[in-house]
Amino acid sequence: MGEKPASQPSGSTPTSSKLPPGMVLGPDGKPCKICTSFRNWKPAKAALASSTAAAATLTTDTRAASVPTLAPLPDTRPAHCPPDVEGIGRATWTFLHTTAAYYPERPSPHQRANMLALLHALPVLYPCSHCAADLGAQMQGAPPDVSGRAGLSAWLCARHNEVNRKLGKEEFECAKVDERWKDGPEDGSCD
Ligand SMILES: Cc1cc2nc3c(=O)[nH]c(=O)nc-3n(C[C@H](O)[C@H](O)[C@H](O)COP(=O)(O)OP(=O)(O)OC[C@H]3O[C@@H](n4cnc5c(N)ncnc54)[C@H](O)[C@@H]3O)c2cc1C
Repeated sequence: MGEKPASQPSGSTPTSSKLPPGMVLGPDGKPCKICTSFRNWKPAKAALASSTAAAATLTTDTRAASVPTLAPLPDTRPAHCPPDVEGIGRATWTFLHTTAAYYPERPSPHQRANMLALLHALPVLYPCSHCAADLGAQMQGAPPDVSGRAGLSAWLCARHNEVNRKLGKEEFECAKVDERWKDGPEDGSCD
C-alpha cells in the first residue's frame, strides 16, 4: 500500500500524529487529498455540520439534540469541488461497470487489446495511489477477463467486491450487474 492512515503514523512522518484520524498520507509522507474522504480531510467542519444538523432536527428527543453525534457525514461539498477518494471511486466504478455492460459479447482482438490496456493502466494511473496499488495486487492474482461482456462484468464485479470487503461494505450480488448498469429494474422505475 502506498499510503498510511494518519492515525497509524510511521516514524518517517513526525507531524502525522497531529493529523485527524482517517486522513491518508501519500507516498511522499504528506496528506493525500485524493486518497482521503472529505469528511476526514475536514473533520472539524464535518463535526460542526453534524452538530448543527442534530440541532436542526430536534423534535421530541431533546437528549439526541443535546449530545450531537460525530458519525461520518455524506460528502456535502458543492458539485464544482474536486473529488475525494469516494467521488472518484463512484465515478470510476460507474465508468468501468457501464463500459463492461456495453462491451461486445464477442469483442474483436482490437477491442480486447484496448480493454486490457485500459484496465492495466488503472494500477499505474489511478490517482488514489493506495487504491491503485491494491488493485494492481488484485490483478496479479486475478487477471482481467476481456473475453466478452459477461466475463468482463463478472470480473469487475469481483474486483469491486474485494474493495467493498476491504472497506467493510456489503457485497454486491453479481447476478444483478446488468440490472444495475444497463437494463434497470423490472419495476420500470428507471425507464
Ligand atoms: C479501483 C478502485 C479501487 C478503490 N480502492 C479504494 C480503497 O482502497 N480505499 C477507499 O477508501 N476507497 C477505494 N475506492 C473507492 C470505493 O470503492 C468507493 O467508490 C467509494 O468508497 C464510494 O463508495 P459508495 O458506497 O458510494 O459506492 P461504490 O463502491 O463507489 O459503488 C457505486 C455503486 O456501484 C454498485 N456496486 C457496488 N458494488 C458493486 C459490485 N461489486 N459490482 C457492481 N456494482 C457494484 C452499487 O450500486 C453502488 O451504489 C476504490 C475505487 C476504485 C475504482
